[in-house]
Amino acid sequence: MAHTAKLDSKPNNSLWANRSTQSVSSHTFSDSYDVAIIGGGFSGLWSAYHLKKLNPKLSIVIFEARHCGFGASGRNGGWVSSDYPVYRSTLEKRYGVDRTSALFQSLTNAINELGTVAQSIAPQANFVKSGTVLFARNLAQERRLKASEDDLHVWKKPDELRGMINVSQLRGGLFNSECATINPMGLVDGLVNHLRSIGVTICEGVFASRVEGGVLANSAMVSASIVIQATEVFGDPARDFIPLYSLMIATEPLSEDLWREIGVESRFTFAEGSHLINYAQRTADNRIAIGGRGATYPYGSRLVPAKEMTDYVHAHLRELVQQWFPALQRITFSHAWGGAVAITRDWEPYVQFDASSGFGRLGGYAGDGVTMSFLASKILANLITGRSEPITQLHFVNRKIRKWEPEPLRYIAVNSLVKMSGVADKEEAKTSRPSLVSRIIAPLILR
Ligand SMILES: Cc1cc2nc3c(=O)[nH]c(=O)nc-3n(C[C@H](O)[C@H](O)[C@H](O)COP(=O)(O)OP(=O)(O)OC[C@H]3O[C@@H](n4cnc5c(N)ncnc54)[C@H](O)[C@@H]3O)c2cc1C
Repeated sequence: MAHTAKLDSKPNNSLWANRSTQSVSSHTFSDSYDVAIIGGGFSGLWSAYHLKKLNPKLSIVIFEARHCGFGASGRNGGWVSSDYPVYRSTLEKRYGVDRTSALFQSLTNAINELGTVAQSIAPQANFVKSGTVLFARNLAQERRLKASEDDLHVWKKPDELRGMINVSQLRGGLFNSECATINPMGLVDGLVNHLRSIGVTICEGVFASRVEGGVLANSAMVSASIVIQATEVFGDPARDFIPLYSLMIATEPLSEDLWREIGVESRFTFAEGSHLINYAQRTADNRIAIGGRGATYPYGSRLVPAKEMTDYVHAHLRELVQQWFPALQRITFSHAWGGAVAITRDWEPYVQFDASSGFGRLGGYAGDGVTMSFLASKILANLITGRSEPITQLHFVNRKIRKWEPEPLRYIAVNSLVKMSGVADKEEAKTSRPSLVSRIIAPLILR
């Protein structure tokens, strides 16, 4: 009996989606595997990749309810970054300097490893490692960014930076060389083809759930001694995480003349140091793809597909591009889309494996999941195969997840914070002083 998969998200209509990625390949599957993975995003695909590297004999199946890359993995901003959702200073207070350094070193290693794999199995991902620029456009942003300078983030004065990116009202910014950019769906496609070529069974259009002894896949029992839940925001939140929507737009391909005016020649990623998160890249076909937050949190942590197309967020992103680069007043915006990310109460990811039940899960990347899903799945593969490595000692491995507050408190608090971030940015743009609102909200966010 077939179970029809229903996931609460609109089809992947992002810039990266293409016809071949939208079609679902039908594949038959056996009734028994060593490892069954639920979810065909980066977490599921990289888990299979790392497990096969550590033990090529393992039989592995991936069940994906829609098509691989249907979720955030096929719709994101393509930043392969060393960013972590919690500030370094907060981490140092929580876990100490050495454990924090170990985390950032692991993220940097992960970018380089991911790049080597991508260049070999997914040239269509157009992996380019040119760093990232976080720029300031008012005095408050300038002070905040200067204060967060560290060994990864180097402050550049306006004159130095203008040669790299010609943003209006530029007051300088932080350059971090540890960031790359990709076409994320290109990476998904390359990974899928590679995994199939080394014997991993990937079944799309198959909704799966974990049961005793394995998984139910479209109502068929498949036994597996190891089950990995790699469904990120689509899993049962159970107050372990909340969904927040991140939205994106893309311009048409821009002319050589416009790019001469803007800069970004080496295709580093870029963003403004505002409170409301934003992130942009110059695509391989010379568009600007930019994303940002601002959509409200849905009551009860339910996924609400309409939020992927929140008009005022898309409009704000279009305005932002034209404020940054006044030469772009007459261009056309070709795409608008969105997706949800999973955020834990302390903004940290989780990787958990229980050897006695054979159950593993990973996620909670809070919008910094491209590099982290590679690292988290490598950690999980090591835990499953019983290896102790420096990365399996990172502070978030097998940690207890702190619960979010119950509703309606959660709804009121999260949406107040979303609103206040926007207010804080307006306040700083107007007064050029660090926002009072942001000083109130900072401790509440636990970052
Ligand atoms: C708009 C946007 C922009 C972003 N930009 C960036 C960025 O620039 N850099 C960055 O680092 N991170 C970014 N992120 C976050 C990053 O994309 C995610 O953290 C990462 O892709 C999560 O990968 P995943 O495999 O864990 O989850 P997903 O990609 O969501 O994969 C989960 C998969 O599980 C499938 N599934 C769910 N339930 C079932 C079931 N029961 N049975 C079978 N299959 C199931 C879903 O269909 C889905 O394909 C962004 C996210 C969004 C939404």
